[in-house]
Amino acid sequence: MSEYPQTVLELRERFADEQGCREYLAKLRWLEGFRCPACQAQDYWLTERGLRHCRSCGRQTSVTAGTLFADTHLPLRLWFEAMWQVTSQKYGASALGMQRVLGLGSYRTAWNWLHKLRRAMVRPGRDRLQGVIEVDEIFIGGPRPGKRGRGAAGKVLVVIAAQEAVKGIGRIRLARVPDASAQSLEAAISAAVEPGSRVRTDDWRGYQGLSKLGYGHPIARPTAEVGDNLLPLANRVASLLKRWLLGTHQGAVQSTYLDYYLDEFTFRFNRRTSGSRGLLFYRLVQQAVELAPVPAKEIMTAAGAAGVNATTG
Ligand SMILES: [Zn+2]
Repeated sequence: MSEYPQTVLELRERFADEQGCREYLAKLRWLEGFRCPACQAQDYWLTERGLRHCRSCGRQTSVTAGTLFADTHLPLRLWFEAMWQVTSQKYGASALGMQRVLGLGSYRTAWNWLHKLRRAMVRPGRDRLQGVIEVDEIFIGGPRPGKRGRGAAGKVLVVIAAQEAVKGIGRIRLARVPDASAQSLEAAISAAVEPGSRVRTDDWRGYQGLSKLGYGHPIARPTAEVGDNLLPLANRVASLLKRWLLGTHQGAVQSTYLDYYLDEFTFRFNRRTSGSRGLLFYRLVQQAVELAPVPAKEIMTAAGAAGVNATTG
């Protein structure tokens, strides 16, 4: 059997019951096979509730404990369906769409699930980009265009790093920054790009210290040939990102949560050439079982602070 379903029918056949879902999670979580967390023994029997009962010490272990699916009161089948929704659609899923398709009782639940899944889209300790990287910043949100270095009310500044590939763009990294100062930009670039790479930017003063940080630093300047589109790769990513935020999410992204949306966009973009949507699903499940659980309270508290509107967020 392949490692992941290729179609929605395969998904539903393969994960038709809770046991099937749990076994899949177990396979991804315990790559070397199950070991009792208390005594390291490998022998167990499955209880009726799907817990692994250690034959040696009697400890019962749940495959979802310590993962994103911990403490879920809804069937795992529904989670699998949600992950399929998120990964099988080119532009992902909105909370409203997911609530409808899955028949979730409340918009809030759908919204929480999406946020949990976004957290699973960032691989812990992910590597930095290498090679030739275009870097630029853009403003997201707010009614008026922002001014570089100063910002604008209601706007968030996002740094885009886009790797040059033989055909267009390779992988990307996105990061929210407080401002366009050298300090902020250099921190974002150091986190996203491997030293020794060539970082192409425009001549904004915030980028002038890049050579000192160990980067090659070609500066793109306007010429008759390129016109104003000095950084075409970064610009392309910027317009796709804006279109996605406006389209799938109708622009209703709270700035408090922008980081998660950036993570989802990056996850999707960096896997856009993958021939199979099923592979995306597989990666998401894989990362979800590696992730510590996110208490709903934590997300809700942040939501309260941001004054998120449950009908539009
Ligand atoms: Zn044990």
